[in-house]
Amino acid sequence: MILLPDHLLPDILHLTDEFLDRQKIQGIIFDIDNTLVGYHTPEPTDEVKKLLAHLRDRGVKLAIASNNKKSRVRRFAADLGMAAYHRSAKPLPIVLHRICKDFALPQENIALVGDQIFTDVWGGNWAGLQTILVEPVDVLENNLFFRIKRALEGPIIARKKREENHD
Ligand SMILES: [Mg+2]
Repeated sequence: MILLPDHLLPDILHLTDEFLDRQKIQGIIFDIDNTLVGYHTPEPTDEVKKLLAHLRDRGVKLAIASNNKKSRVRRFAADLGMAAYHRSAKPLPIVLHRICKDFALPQENIALVGDQIFTDVWGGNWAGLQTILVEPVDVLENNLFFRIKRALEGPIIARKKREENHD
């Protein structure tokens, strides 16, 4: 099924050495928005830089294929030292095929990591890659935001209600 990811992971930090070894992944093509960072984060976080550096040290070949515009991708990838394609037109497999050729690895040893089924998963499957769907970063941020907000709101609302009852 072309829209079905091979793997579901909560986030990119679950791309552990063990996971990559088990799945025989030697090359990774990353989406940017909501995969490596949230949509409004212009540059890689320290966490992302650390992960990418670790993967590179292990000999994993890395590239970025984003459907976003040139300025976004250029700025994000400026110091990462890897091929970064903007306007990749995923799910079309053209850019993904080009990266596979650059990696000089069999497609089955390359994973596409992204947050969207209709661009990342479809494109990765179309290109014959392993596909890894991660939960969107922004949704996680929102969830955390709302959990914190609720935790802060809860006692305030409870107190307000108590005060109202005493009136
Ligand atoms: Mg995305």
